Amino acid sequence: MTSGQPSRHRARRRGRLLRTLLVLGTLAALGAVAVLVVPLLLPPGPRPPFQLPVACGETWQLGTYPGHDDYDVDLFPTEGEAWGRPVLASAAGTVTVAGINGSLGGRTPENPDGPRGRGGGYWVKIDHGGRWETQYLHLLEPPLVREGQRVAQGEQIGRLGSTGNSGAPHLHYEQRRGWDKVEAHFDGEPSGITHDDAEYTVRRTSNNCPG
Ligand SMILES: [Zn+2]
Repeated sequence: MTSGQPSRHRARRRGRLLRTLLVLGTLAALGAVAVLVVPLLLPPGPRPPFQLPVACGETWQLGTYPGHDDYDVDLFPTEGEAWGRPVLASAAGTVTVAGINGSLGGRTPENPDGPRGRGGGYWVKIDHGGRWETQYLHLLEPPLVREGQRVAQGEQIGRLGSTGNSGAPHLHYEQRRGWDKVEAHFDGEPSGITHDDAEYTVRRTSNNCPG
């Protein structure tokens, strides 16, 4: 049994190496989880200076209806054609989603009563920092921005449409703080769209102006 001794040494060394790698791997994984999770546990920052996600000076109707969900805002222009209207970033930020939610369906300006899709259709999500984000649903076409792109306040991110689960061309809009949807604020004022117990609307004029 003269050859048994060196191989036992080798096995013990290999065992030590594997244990060291396991410990290092576990530490690296914990570090990665901490980097991802810790920012989510921090309290949200101050509210960004959100503006209506539509062109400067235009007056739009903001509304909701039973079953829509609290704080969800549907925007319709009070003048002119809704289809294709520019949808603007409410505040500066980074695009985190620019794609399709659910299914598009077939509602277009040429066929407004086409088959209804599911979910948000073409949509965009913007991270404004401090755990604040905005969402823009039912866009007409693929968003004009891509994931990871920085956008300025008032930058056009898409065109208004009726993709996804949408009855008529409009913009479905949400503001979120941390884990929660909150009452949308525009130009420093609460929107007035809170509960979805009843159908109601308010009118606001956009101050999402250049400069
Ligand atoms: Zn909606």
